[in-house]
Amino acid sequence: MQEVKFVDLSKQYLSLKEEILQSFDRLSTTGSYILTKDVTEFEEKFASYCNTKYAIAVGNGSDALYLSLLSLNIGHGDEVITTPNSFIASAGVIARTGARIVFCDVGDDMNLDPNKLESVITKRTKAILLVHLTGRIANMDKIQPIAEKHGIEIIEDAAQAVGATYRNKKAGAFGICAGFSLHPLKNLHIHGDGGIITTDEKWLYEKLLKFRNHGLKNRDECEFWGINSRLDSIQAAIANIKLKYLDNWNGQYRKLANLYSNRLKDYVIVPNVFEHEKPIYHRYMIQHPNRDKLQDYLLENGIETKVNYPIPLHLQEAAKNLNYKKGDFPKAEELANSILSLPIYSELEEKKVTFVIDKIVQFCTK
Ligand SMILES: *Cc1c(COP(=O)(O)O)cnc(C)c1O
Repeated sequence: MQEVKFVDLSKQYLSLKEEILQSFDRLSTTGSYILTKDVTEFEEKFASYCNTKYAIAVGNGSDALYLSLLSLNIGHGDEVITTPNSFIASAGVIARTGARIVFCDVGDDMNLDPNKLESVITKRTKAILLVHLTGRIANMDKIQPIAEKHGIEIIEDAAQAVGATYRNKKAGAFGICAGFSLHPLKNLHIHGDGGIITTDEKWLYEKLLKFRNHGLKNRDECEFWGINSRLDSIQAAIANIKLKYLDNWNGQYRKLANLYSNRLKDYVIVPNVFEHEKPIYHRYMIQHPNRDKLQDYLLENGIETKVNYPIPLHLQEAAKNLNYKKGDFPKAEELANSILSLPIYSELEEKKVTFVIDKIVQFCTK
C-alpha cells in the first residue's frame, strides 16, 4: 500500500498514448527500424534545444560518455577526473577506455569542488568527466578557466541535466561534448535505453556518427573499429514527441522542488541554488543527520524515497585497484550518509508533495 511512489512512468505515457501509438504504427508499417529520419530529426531538434551545432544519438547514456572519451583518443596511460558521488557509469566508462579514474571531492552543490581540482591534475590528465548531479550544472565559472589553463577537455556527464541552465546556457553546451541519457528514470526519457551526445565540433560529430555504427563510413567500408550503439528509430520517434513537452515538465519539477524547499528549509538541508542557475531537479535531495530513520519513517507512512547514492564510487569493490580509502573524499562520504531523494516527477500531484512535507516536518519536530 504505497501512497506516494518515488516515480510513476505510466502517467506520462497515458497522456501521450495517441501520439506514441501513431508513431509506432507509422514506423512499423514502413518496415525500416534503424537510423531512419526519426533519428536524424531527433538529433537536429536536440542539438537546437541545447544550442549546440550537432548531436549524435546512441544506445544509452553510458555509451554517449564512452564514445566521447574514445573519440578524444583517451585510453591507456591517460587519466580522467570525475566525482565519487555519481552513478556507477561516470567512473565505469573511464575504466572501459583503459584510462585511470581519478576522483575529485565535491562541494555543497554536490558537484566537483573547483578548489580541489588542481590538486588532482597531473601530466597525464586528459579530461574531466564533469557530472551535473541531480540536474544542477557544476560551477562552470571556476572549473572552465582551470581546465583551459591546464589544456584539459571537459566532457559533461549531463545524463541527469537535460534542460538545466547556468547563466542562461544549457547543459551540453559547455564542454567539448556532453553525454545525455534517455533512460526511463531521466527527465527526458523513452521506453527503454537511449542516449545522445552534443558537440559544436564538426570533426567530432563526424567521428561519432561512425563510431556508433561499427566505424562504417558507408555500407561496406570500415574506417576504424567502432561499436554498435544506435538509438532505435521507434525510441527516437518517442523522443521527438516528448521533447516538445520537456520544458513544461521541467517547469513542473522546479515548481515541486520550490514547494519542498520553501517548507522544508527550516528542518533539513535543502539545495542552495544560486540566482544564475536553473536546475531541473532530476533528483530532489535533502540532507538529514538521521537519514536512515527519516527514510524508515516516511516508508511507514507510505512514502517511497531513495538514496542516490549510498556507496561512493571510490569505495566500490570495482574501484579497489585504484587504492582509495575511506576518508579520501570527506564531502562525498558525508553526503552518502545524509542525502535522501524525495519523490519528484512531472505528473506528481502537489497535494502528495504537501503530504510528504508534512511527514518530514512531523519527523523533525517529534
Ligand atoms: C543515468 C546516468 C548515466 C548512464 O546513463 P544510462 O543511459 O543509464 O547508460 C551516466 N551518468 C549519470 C550521472 C547518470 O545519472
